[in-house]
Amino acid sequence: MPKTCVFCGAPVPGKGEHVLPTWLLRRSDGQGPFTIEIDRQPVPKHNGKTERQQLARVLLPVCGGDSPSDCNGWLNDTFEQPAKRHVNDILDSLQVITGQNVDAVAQWAVKTLLLSNHPKAVNTELRKRPRRSWVFPDGMLPAMRSTGKIPDDLSLWAAVVNPDAPPVALPSFETTVLPRVTWENGAGGTGSSTMLGFATSDPIGTTIAFQLAFHPLTDIEHPLEEVGLVTRLWPNPPARLDFQTLPALDQAAKDRMGRVFASGGERINLPVGERWSRSTMQGYFSAQ
Ligand SMILES: [Zn+2]
Repeated sequence: MPKTCVFCGAPVPGKGEHVLPTWLLRRSDGQGPFTIEIDRQPVPKHNGKTERQQLARVLLPVCGGDSPSDCNGWLNDTFEQPAKRHVNDILDSLQVITGQNVDAVAQWAVKTLLLSNHPKAVNTELRKRPRRSWVFPDGMLPAMRSTGKIPDDLSLWAAVVNPDAPPVALPSFETTVLPRVTWENGAGGTGSSTMLGFATSDPIGTTIAFQLAFHPLTDIEHPLEEVGLVTRLWPNPPARLDFQTLPALDQAAKDRMGRVFASGGERINLPVGERWSRSTMQGYFSAQ
């Protein structure tokens, strides 16, 4: 079956487009070895080795210049070009970013993490789709293409991670299991979250970790945001983004950050217009 563009449905010849832009991949080429871990187990390549010299490429069917809608050109103009310089400034030297540039970095990271989790995204090295791709509501990406806006109910946080940082005191919190929330009119979807880290240029192994949650019709909070260990980037990006003021998370704290949200919550049908939150959930249970 020919591939079709995830944004506009046009036929896509060839392998599709890189979800992680080549300007970002080039940063890391030759900086390896890298290992890929799924559920904390190193994933071997075809030859059985677990180390590789390049980050894996992820391809997604997106139409290009030979299609009237040129969705890849649109992605480039809308997300890559406005953010590229500022993402590089952050990864080169944790430079302070302000104003519209924070907005550009935030939208770029939302777009990149979102598309990485698309069910049609293919990891060229693993030759298969991500094991736990997200459920994308029908029409979400076409609406993003036609409006140019990030879809609703996507939230993004960022943290500085250094595995060798001194242990960070974490608040106690329960994992928020994101439910599948729907309205009778068909709106809604299945909650999911993901994390992706990008290496900085510093020699001590600092990475910037982005965490994206899709929480349709659900209001969520991030327990590490409240105590200043992560910073919210979307929605409502800050006027000033200074990663040097964020404490570095050690390995255990980063692992804990990865468990702030989990997918696989129950199915909840709500009256049109109502949203789910932890407090309404408690009411929901006590009413049964
Ligand atoms: Zn397209």
